[in-house]
Amino acid sequence: MTDQGTDEVKEEIEYQTIAEFLESTPPNQLINISDLSSIKRYQSGGIYNEMRTPEVQLHCNHDQCSGTRFFRCVSGSGKRLKLEDFEFFYVTYRCSNCQHVEKTFSLAAKITTESKPEGECYKFGELPTYGPPVSAKLIKLIGPDRDDFLKGRRCENQGLGVGAFIYYRRVVENQKNRILGEIIKVSEKIGAATEKIEKLKSAVTETQFTKALETAKDAMPESLLINGHSPILLLHSALSEGVHALTDEQCLELAGSVRVVLGELSERLSQALKDEAELAKALSTLMNKKRS
Ligand SMILES: [Zn+2]
Repeated sequence: MTDQGTDEVKEEIEYQTIAEFLESTPPNQLINISDLSSIKRYQSGGIYNEMRTPEVQLHCNHDQCSGTRFFRCVSGSGKRLKLEDFEFFYVTYRCSNCQHVEKTFSLAAKITTESKPEGECYKFGELPTYGPPVSAKLIKLIGPDRDDFLKGRRCENQGLGVGAFIYYRRVVENQKNRILGEIIKVSEKIGAATEKIEKLKSAVTETQFTKALETAKDAMPESLLINGHSPILLLHSALSEGVHALTDEQCLELAGSVRVVLGELSERLSQALKDEAELAKALSTLMNKKRS
């Protein structure tokens, strides 16, 4: 009995660094942190634990950045932490590149061994919300199913694979015709072969979801391909698997790829339509000049 007890105590504790925790742990989890505090010394000689707020790498959505950038703590640093009792506080970080975008974390923290850096940290939440933001173009592409998509995003952020997969699949199923409609718009503008446009239109009338994607997958205009692959074919292969045949981890991975493909497709659709609009404007300017 005694031996068993000792084994339990020795059970390996999993640690994260404070930077990893702030960057990539979704809210609502109590996590063991290996470098939570620095040991400081009072002038009188005693010591205390001070919360560490090292620089972290986060997504910055500022026009000037739009990618992962270093963020530095600008307020809430230097919190003194106690043994056993949680301290509750906010820390705010600012992007070091644009010096504009900020991220605030709401935390609870305590140290676990006196005079040691280790401790526990809990993230109540963060503002803006955890995870890279969903682009406005993608929100426009999925239109009325925005809320379901964001629910899927929330599941994904919390590591709930089955939930994320089901929400994303529902969004793509519901908005299949809206997405195909945008692809048809691009195809018509660039003067794609009639045969291809007909194929896309027949996919719109096809009520069976996987069959519709199957029909449309080879009719993509070149400008919408993602590294040479048809986005519809990619969505088809990610979504054709039944959720009952997949583990939660597999669902999470597939959900992530569905989100990335939808994001890329929305970028390419808007770029293709913009290019076309710019070309039309340039042509009309030249034609008017010729006439005058
Ligand atoms: Zn920035």
